Amino acid sequence: MIDPRTYQPAADALSGRVVLITGASDGIGKAVALAAAAHGATVLLHGRNVRKLEAVYDTIVAAKHPRPSIVPLDFEKAGPDEYEKLATALEQEFGRLDTLLHNAAMLGERAPIEHHDVPKWMRTMHVNVTAPFILTRYCLPLLKRSADPSIVFTSSAVVTQPRAYWGAYLVSKWASQGLMHMLADELENQPRIRVNSIAPGKVRTALRLAAYPAEDQATLRTPESIVTPYLFLLGPDSRGVTGETFSAQ
Ligand code: NDP
Repeated sequence: MIDPRTYQPAADALSGRVVLITGASDGIGKAVALAAAAHGATVLLHGRNVRKLEAVYDTIVAAKHPRPSIVPLDFEKAGPDEYEKLATALEQEFGRLDTLLHNAAMLGERAPIEHHDVPKWMRTMHVNVTAPFILTRYCLPLLKRSADPSIVFTSSAVVTQPRAYWGAYLVSKWASQGLMHMLADELENQPRIRVNSIAPGKVRTALRLAAYPAEDQATLRTPESIVTPYLFLLGPDSRGVTGETFSAQ
């Protein structure tokens, strides 16, 4: 099997694919969205801040890559109906979905369990686990219409190295890994659909800075430097691979 870290995508590796990326307004999601568009994908840019999404949209259009779409939805506030409407809108405009990358997440509070803020716990679990579940649930019929569907979750080192004080973020990443494995198993009789995870490693983003404010930023990889393994999972070259977790570094 190809090692996604040494994968060398063809210039048109994602040509013709319709790719939904959550949290595409910033950090890793933004870098992956730009790279996916540069490799031919029609990228559906999800986020909650339309101004930031428009900046990503404008960059893609200025580069003359396939015209993207903006898909605004605040995972913290949206009810189930809004996810269903989003899927219906995608169905009307594109008729199918080839890739769904669950990338958006919030850090929440880092605190001992005894002192963890309860509403913040609930918000973090909702954004990081329940939202990807609801989005997957409503997008599955669209993914099943693709000739080569791929669903990608985002893992973290806190899954392989659990540690104190990471609160709801750590639990949400374990739950999201569980969701990935369960879904891969559920869909094993539909071998066209693959479900995998990617762990980005240490990457210079707002979320990382919030988690490690004293860290030397110069020691961290940039989002742009870790996109290639994502392109492998987003595109047809990962066909046949399911239930796996890959490291982006
Ligand atoms: P960023 O904070 O840079 O980006 C997070 C993205 O998620 C932003 O687009 C953000 O939107 C969006 N988002 C957050 N909350 C919501 C919400 N309520 N509704 C909709 N969108 C929301 O983080 P990273 O790029 O670092 O993180 C990307 C993924 O990588 C996450 O799943 C994270 O857990 C994972 N990861 C990152 C690591 C790192 O070192 N950076 C290490 C391990 C895992 P907005 O722009 O509006 O804030």
